[in-house]
Amino acid sequence: MSEMYFARRSMTYGRNGAEQILDRGQILTLSGLINDEKLVRLGYVALVSKGVAIVECGKCGAKFATDEGLSSHGRERHRNLKLTPKEEDERTDKRHKLEDAIAPLDLTKTKASLGESTSNVVTTQKRTAKKRSNRAAV
Ligand SMILES: [Zn+2]
Repeated sequence: MSEMYFARRSMTYGRNGAEQILDRGQILTLSGLINDEKLVRLGYVALVSKGVAIVECGKCGAKFATDEGLSSHGRERHRNLKLTPKEEDERTDKRHKLEDAIAPLDLTKTKASLGESTSNVVTTQKRTAKKRSNRAAV
């Protein structure tokens, strides 16, 4: 039986080209990728405790470990918001600040000081930064 994990922060997970976008609290099954151990160690994901009632999004079927995660997912993904790029960035920044506050990564456990690269852990934060610099370059 494979153990169930949930994303402690919004993130993407999966093999190149088959990444899954995960919202905070969303259930995932680690699929034996090289970075799995690191995701657990740094606090991107955590084991779902036994007996937790899993809730499911009625629109897309995504599963969550908490009601709070599900409702935040609904607000982020299933509301037709017409946001300007600036407003979108602000929302993303706000979300990251919140996630830093409630689910900080345990960077004391990083092996970065030992030379381990974290570049293949793609966070939405990095992608946003990339998007911004692309825009600035236009
Ligand atoms: Zn959904």
